[in-house]
Amino acid sequence: MPLKPFDIPQAHHLIGGAWIRGKATIQVTDPSVGAPLTTIARGNAEDIDAAVIAAQAAREGEWGRMAALERGRILTRIGQMVLEQVETLAKLEARDVGKPLKQARADAVALARYMEFYGGAADKIHGETIPYLDGYTVYTLREPHGVTGHIIPWNYPMQIIGRSVGAALAMGNACVLKPAEDACLTALAFAQIAMEAGLPAGALSVVTGLGSEAGAALAAHPGVQHISFTGSVRTGEAIQAAAATNVIPVTLELGGKSPQIVFDDADLDRALPFLINAGIQNAGQTCSASSRILVQRRIYDEVRDRMAAAYGELKVGPAMEDLDVGPLISAKQKEIVTGFLEKGADLTIAAQGQIVTDAAGHYVPPTLFANVPPDHILAQDEIFDPVQAIIPFEDEAEAIRIANGTDYGLVAAIWTRDGGRQMRLAKALKSGQVFINNYGAGGGVELPFGGVGKSGHGREKGFEALYGFSTLKTVAAWHG
Ligand code: NAP
Ligand code: MG
Repeated sequence: MPLKPFDIPQAHHLIGGAWIRGKATIQVTDPSVGAPLTTIARGNAEDIDAAVIAAQAAREGEWGRMAALERGRILTRIGQMVLEQVETLAKLEARDVGKPLKQARADAVALARYMEFYGGAADKIHGETIPYLDGYTVYTLREPHGVTGHIIPWNYPMQIIGRSVGAALAMGNACVLKPAEDACLTALAFAQIAMEAGLPAGALSVVTGLGSEAGAALAAHPGVQHISFTGSVRTGEAIQAAAATNVIPVTLELGGKSPQIVFDDADLDRALPFLINAGIQNAGQTCSASSRILVQRRIYDEVRDRMAAAYGELKVGPAMEDLDVGPLISAKQKEIVTGFLEKGADLTIAAQGQIVTDAAGHYVPPTLFANVPPDHILAQDEIFDPVQAIIPFEDEAEAIRIANGTDYGLVAAIWTRDGGRQMRLAKALKSGQVFINNYGAGGGVELPFGGVGKSGHGREKGFEALYGFSTLKTVAAWHG
């Protein structure tokens, strides 16, 4: 039975405030059962061009002239409407990407919260006056880039729309969104809600389709002034190269191999749920997932055994059954992940969760590897599945060396009661975010987020995103 969410027509883009039928279509599947779900439009360079033209028109029209206060009101209204639709959005996401309902619900709530946050912030960001030479008055104007492109992945579509499109709209940009082909439905539903909330036509267009077609066309379009991309390193490189041809800024959020470092004075009762959940949430398909658990030698056996006991209890099954872990997004992703796990054949598996369904979805068991050498491929490469590697260490210096010993640097957690050590590690770790005695801090929209190294550059979330989605003009007036 095809899924018909909201009033969204199947296989259409939303361009310039109108639903436009795709000239070609792509079938999408429900990862929990591996069966067809609906079809989406397969956009091409022409559709992207139409969306960019609509965005330029919006910038030159009502949207471009709208007071920040009014933009904020619209975003806040979108947030309220998203909140009213949390259940519908969550079910849609669960079917489309295989995310257990509870986690899908949390994503919808986060999307609403982003809209509230950026709605409130829209009129609170401004330039400055600068003391200068006698006879001058100098000030800065914070202005939108113009048209911003947003290329997002399938793992957290609602949250990533919130943090990138929300911030871009707050600053007055007009957005063209290309969601991942495996996760388009909540993006289309969101655009529908935004329209109903009064967002002017063209301020947000959604073109669905393949990365190599619609995505590449958006990244290279000369009418786009900023690109925000979340996804793989390889695609990130292509996006940055395309943006370079137009000399425009990019924000790249490219994943990680994030460590949790557990010292022998840690509060293990508090740490344990974080050590597990941060690795298995969304079946490990999380850019900021914890995938390396560094444990000080004296408590190594205890942590391994307690984590193994918890892993043994994990249940894997269809998203709508709302178990601990759902399926992976696609058969292709399962194949990639299975290939990685085969590379761990020389390692010891401390424990695995259980697949408790006969459904033909893309399931893999959550797997905990013990005693993993820090340079092993499973301790170096982002795998994007519910797999964690426990790595023993002797002392603080070794912990820092191992933690910093990958190409990535997105987030890191430190578990210790020693205040001095907390401060030393927070400085020493190469990471965009550091958590002390927690992991993720509940994902707060207020907290600037982004990476160093191959985790990318630029920051989204919080006020910092508003700087990224705007540019500064300096005005120097001589008046004698
Ligand atoms: P991906 O190819 O980087 O996809 C991310 C987004 O970029 C999607 O919207 C994709 O569209 C689009 N895209 C792909 N090729 C493009 C191109 N040449 N130009 C412009 N846009 C393009 O990631 P993936 O293939 O879905 O996943 C592969 C790996 O990336 C995962 O195993 C994981 O390691 C990593 N990943 C990281 C994150 C993260 O949050 N950091 C998220 C997802 C994936 P289509 O998907 O429609 O082709
Ligand atoms: Mg892809």
